[in-house]
Amino acid sequence: MEATTAATEARPVRLLVFGRQGAGKGTQAVRLAERYEVPHISTGDMLRAAVKDGTEFGLQAKAIMDAGQLVSDEVMLGIISERLAEPDAARGWLLDGFPRTEQQAKDLVALVGADGIDLALDLDVPESVVLERITTRRVCSECGTTYSLGRDESASSGTCAKCGGGVVQRDDDTEAAVRKRLDIYASQTLPAVRWFGEQGLLVTIDGVGDPDAIATALAEAIDARLG
Ligand code: ADP
Repeated sequence: MEATTAATEARPVRLLVFGRQGAGKGTQAVRLAERYEVPHISTGDMLRAAVKDGTEFGLQAKAIMDAGQLVSDEVMLGIISERLAEPDAARGWLLDGFPRTEQQAKDLVALVGADGIDLALDLDVPESVVLERITTRRVCSECGTTYSLGRDESASSGTCAKCGGGVVQRDDDTEAAVRKRLDIYASQTLPAVRWFGEQGLLVTIDGVGDPDAIATALAEAIDARLG
């Protein structure tokens, strides 16, 4: 057999990132996807794109998302199976926002196989901390960069420093919707996180502190697993 060292021919890297709303999951997911050269697949971003396109499905999804509820497991499985079948996913992927229920976790394993996931990372931040983070969170409606009121000029000016797009509050970042999402995270997503723990696939990383230090801790956990 011919030996190869080309990065593109290396074995795929398949990662899941968990973390309650406001844990910094999206920020870290983008960095990790870049580092491991895999597509960052965020089901929240995919659903928001459908909303923006104004499709009938998008309209239905918007009502569910604005109420802080979950899109059905069946619909999500359809979305994720299509996405993972795209060519860029052949070299691996980083899933952000899926699976979100124990059923979705089992659906994913049925889809990619028992050894089709390298590692699940849980970015752990207490509920009291994230509530404050989310209600001050603002996001660019064009490029998705997040900003924080009181910390970033773009959050108060409403103009994205990166792309010039409009910076707004997400429709589901109101306090009522956030509380609902945190409740659902505790009742539906935490069981899925524990399930990956039982499979020996989970590493928990403290998500409070310097984003660079957290990124390093995440990469160390992944590198240790990939060997
Ligand atoms: P957050 O983690 O802050 O709730 P996301 O961007 O991950 O934000 O998701 C936004 C919304 O999209 C969720 O509240 C939910 O309505 C919907 N959603 C995203 N991923 C899933 C999923 N895997 N299953 C069901 N609903 C989902």
